[in-house]
Amino acid sequence: MANEGVAKFLPQELIRKKRDGHALAPAEIEFFVAGLTDGSISEGQVAAFAMAVYFNGMTMDERVTLTRGMTGSGDTINWAPLNLPGPIADKHSTGGVGDKVSLMLAPILAACGAFCPMISGRGLGHTGGTLDKLDSIPGYNTGPDLESFQQVVRETGCAIIGQTAELAPADGRLYAIRDVTATVESIPLITASILSKKLAAGLDALIMDVKFGSGAFMQAREDALELAQSIVDVGNGAGTPIRALMTDMNQVLGRAAGNGVEVLEAADYLAGRGRDSRVHEVTVGLCAEALILSGLVPCAEDARSKVEQALDSGEAVVRFDAMVSALGGPADFVANAARLIEIAPVSVPVYATHAGHVGTIDTRGVGLSIIALGGGRTRADQSIDYGVGLTEIAGIGEEVGLEAMPLAVVHARNEDTAEMAAAQIRAAFTIEDAPGKVGPTIWRKVSKEDK
Ligand code: URA
Repeated sequence: MANEGVAKFLPQELIRKKRDGHALAPAEIEFFVAGLTDGSISEGQVAAFAMAVYFNGMTMDERVTLTRGMTGSGDTINWAPLNLPGPIADKHSTGGVGDKVSLMLAPILAACGAFCPMISGRGLGHTGGTLDKLDSIPGYNTGPDLESFQQVVRETGCAIIGQTAELAPADGRLYAIRDVTATVESIPLITASILSKKLAAGLDALIMDVKFGSGAFMQAREDALELAQSIVDVGNGAGTPIRALMTDMNQVLGRAAGNGVEVLEAADYLAGRGRDSRVHEVTVGLCAEALILSGLVPCAEDARSKVEQALDSGEAVVRFDAMVSALGGPADFVANAARLIEIAPVSVPVYATHAGHVGTIDTRGVGLSIIALGGGRTRADQSIDYGVGLTEIAGIGEEVGLEAMPLAVVHARNEDTAEMAAAQIRAAFTIEDAPGKVGPTIWRKVSKEDK
């Protein structure tokens, strides 16, 4: 889809039309996506277009056309020749702190009879990325070619890898330009960006985890709800069944945040050595929705018992281990995770300055403390330290203080970075006399049947 020969439209006229608040016709959006992909529309024009969309939005029809166009701007994965005996299902999260759910969800879905080809991202801003977490596993290759990716999915039921240049290249260019032109926070553009990458993977069902709260990109519940509704409407409009769960990010999800430490928490979860109740609620909730939406089970009760069975039988561990070794990592990873994952040598418990209960948490601030430790990036090209992070993170309402539990344990390379992170963590927690109010972990579901 290149803009060859005589151009059908003038890019500046399309920008003008959107700038003045009009809806673009499908052919105009297709022209824009083609020029975005082949470079015939300049960076300045793409930036101006993004800003016009930022201010004037897009109708649902425009969003569907943009998403379809960006999905088809590169390769799309075709699963039909593999004749897989189950549906292709995946999950995507809008990003948070301590969100290791993908690491458990992919093998659980595989153990339940679905196939989960998960294409994940790196950490963005204060949030962690599944890809960075997997990079802490020695030997694990997050960048196989698409053929090997499909083979691993067929053999093990799941594979988690990184974005490739072949899938949705229009998003690669648009996102990079939005990132440096203050146009990331646009619901139509976020919708098309997330969905184009996911739909290019040829899914039968997608579950979105749309987060709200102090550690989410969309902190206000109403903004996050608008994003969830946009993604659900556009995804279904583009032909892929999608539902969303809206989950709370006013505190870290689970007890660990960082890369290696989160892989350890996920391994403990899968093996049943420890399951944080909020992590369990979100994981089971998302897995159950995926099983229902992909037609593997008829109702929530059956879905939940299938998920519990996948965990209790050990089959989810088998699938995770198979995925890790098929992608170049060690055999029997889950059983040996504590030995295989390197954790930084300086461990410092961070105590609250006075005893009490956790009132509120600036979860974004907690995420930023991990960047200060070297576990996240301030520039896209930076390398990171997989061994640093936080464990034993306190939740809202829990009793903390010198005689009680710490706010968190910092794992750092040296005393200086540990102290810097400790100061950020103390600043991120408020301590009150009485336990703080905890909202529901899963606030609500958004589906096309809601309307
Ligand atoms: N994540 C994406 O993939 N795209 C966006 O636009 C925002 C978050």
